[in-house]
Amino acid sequence: MSNIESVLHENRKFPPSTAFTAAARIKPADFVALNAEATRDSVAFWGRLAREELRWHRPFSQILDDSRAPNYRWFTDGVLNASFNCLDVHLAAHGGARDGKPAIIFEGEAGDSRTLTYGQLTAEVCQFANALRAQGIQPGDRVVIYLPMVPEAVIAMQACARIGATHSVVFGGFSANSLRDRIEDAGTRMVITADGGWRAGKALELKQAVDEALATGCKTVEKVIVLKRTGGAVLMQAGRDVWWSDAVRGQATGCEPTWVNAEHPLYLLYTSGSTGKPKGVQHSTAGYLLNAKLTSQWIFDFREDDVFWCTADVGWVTGHTYVCYGPLAAGATIVMYEGAPVYPDGGRFWSICERLGVTIFYTAPTAIRALMRLGDELPNKYDLSKLRLLGTVGEPINPEAWIWYHTVIGKSRCPIVDTWWQTETGAAMLSPLPGVTATKPGSCTTAIPGIDMAIVDEDGDPVTDPDQGGWLVVRKPWPSMLRTIWGDNDRYVSTYWAKFNNRYYVAGDTAYRDADGYFWVMGRADDVLKVSGHRLGTAEVESAFVAHPRVAEAAVVSRHHEIKGESIFAYVVLKGQRPTGKDAEKFAAELREFVGKELGAIAKPDDIRFADNLPKTRSGKIMRRLLRAIARGEPITQDISTLENPAIVEQLRGAG
Ligand code: ATP
Ligand code: MG
Repeated sequence: MSNIESVLHENRKFPPSTAFTAAARIKPADFVALNAEATRDSVAFWGRLAREELRWHRPFSQILDDSRAPNYRWFTDGVLNASFNCLDVHLAAHGGARDGKPAIIFEGEAGDSRTLTYGQLTAEVCQFANALRAQGIQPGDRVVIYLPMVPEAVIAMQACARIGATHSVVFGGFSANSLRDRIEDAGTRMVITADGGWRAGKALELKQAVDEALATGCKTVEKVIVLKRTGGAVLMQAGRDVWWSDAVRGQATGCEPTWVNAEHPLYLLYTSGSTGKPKGVQHSTAGYLLNAKLTSQWIFDFREDDVFWCTADVGWVTGHTYVCYGPLAAGATIVMYEGAPVYPDGGRFWSICERLGVTIFYTAPTAIRALMRLGDELPNKYDLSKLRLLGTVGEPINPEAWIWYHTVIGKSRCPIVDTWWQTETGAAMLSPLPGVTATKPGSCTTAIPGIDMAIVDEDGDPVTDPDQGGWLVVRKPWPSMLRTIWGDNDRYVSTYWAKFNNRYYVAGDTAYRDADGYFWVMGRADDVLKVSGHRLGTAEVESAFVAHPRVAEAAVVSRHHEIKGESIFAYVVLKGQRPTGKDAEKFAAELREFVGKELGAIAKPDDIRFADNLPKTRSGKIMRRLLRAIARGEPITQDISTLENPAIVEQLRGAG
């Protein structure tokens, strides 16, 4: 068990140490200057940075084209290549000095490892890019990447970028059905996959899922490239399937990039779908890369000798922006790990940090909570003294997990950057800058320079009262914003813009600002609980549960209530055994009182159900829509085939 006192209202502020600030890339005075410049003229601000930070093949003459708003276009007549900007620019041949610097330090689940320098990575990307061209891939073609978390995933993405093909990475944990839907929606010509990948000691059968998907549709797919990873038996269809090693054999290790327009679609990424049918979020080349690089430098404060580990899979946007593109554009060394965080035990992450000398570590609250639940002994066994900066993304982090992360992992020495962003925003939007911002546990603090975020009410007017909740919106276009939903621009406009007549980008989250102007994300607007006329954010109520020393995780949803309108239904996972019968009733009553005391009687849950774990999307987010359906006794319409533990559904229903 953790020996950290449970915390709900953590009111302390955590400023960076003077030593951290003194060595940081962005110091308080720089932050003030950047914000002042952006406030004066945000378009000119992005224009200056795009000129300075990206290497252009042909410069742009117009910074922002808003003639088709809300389909904004940035740096439109500029020409460049994303892979050139992530690789070649670091090599001596192009004025860099990082030929021998490690770009990727990889560790397989079984313990195999591999380091690729910038020179080696560039050669491998070029060779694979030549292979793709030889297989007939043209600029603008869509290529689906369905690989485990191995260096070839980054090589494949970068190779697509190099020849102007638009990649769409599908997370390796998705089923054949989900894969088929995404392949078909994107009109994919090629799939790049592997025989399998290692996850918790088992081989994940990837090629088999591709075969299944292609057997039931996907008529546009002409070629499948297969990486040998596990050595498991696979069927190779003559004329269609090609081994990776055969495809690259004899290909040159130099490859002239295909120079593309700034707005050329770099990739499509289907959102995780925790709120419905997946949307193919389309990102641009230049604008996307600009924010990916800048936020990497500003938020993660890269220095030449840093070792950066973002634990996200390349199947998620975080694995695009903070594994494949941002850190490489910034010339950083990244760590990639193939397997499960708890394999062979819950110390794996900390062991990797120690052995590979990780200095900056970025993960999700769900992972932090899961590892916290295992106790302090595991992390305490490892030397984490090289860590200097920690980050989190994906969900609101409850103060208790924040404090644990801060003290047990960061030894109270490392600033924590809590970054709020979305697949759609392309890069972090709200985040502390580690040498500047005093952090508060649970808050993403303030917007990064150039990003204009606000909270508005139902009429679209700014909410000015502190602690008053409303819609989280972005008021000015920014370079890495999504360009559209692939094949469905109406859905783009209706989902993100229509609510306030195209005035703002609507994130779909609710949030409030405190008296210091700090942002606190309360959760998705769709999930807000309306009890007796009061609106409660899911994050707030769940934090109250988790503040109880015996609670590891909680998810709350609402269901209809005769008098209150809605009542709160909570699913709770405890740190020890799941209580049953009388024990469960007794502890539920205790928890009800506890939450009532923390948040007020209004937030007292009517129903509490204990479970061994919670249903999560493959990116680790709680599937609240599924829980809502169960709480309301409605039929389940979500795809639950991708749940880690499908049997949990019976338990959540109260039958297990
Ligand atoms: P879908 O849109 O398909 O339902 P998703 O929203 O989970 O999937 P992402 O784009 O990966 O897919 O997640 C973005 C969302 O995650 C945000 O809208 C927000 O709700 C939540 N989020 C991300 N980072 C943070 C954070 N630091 N604090 C609070 N919430 C966060
Ligand atoms: Mg979303």
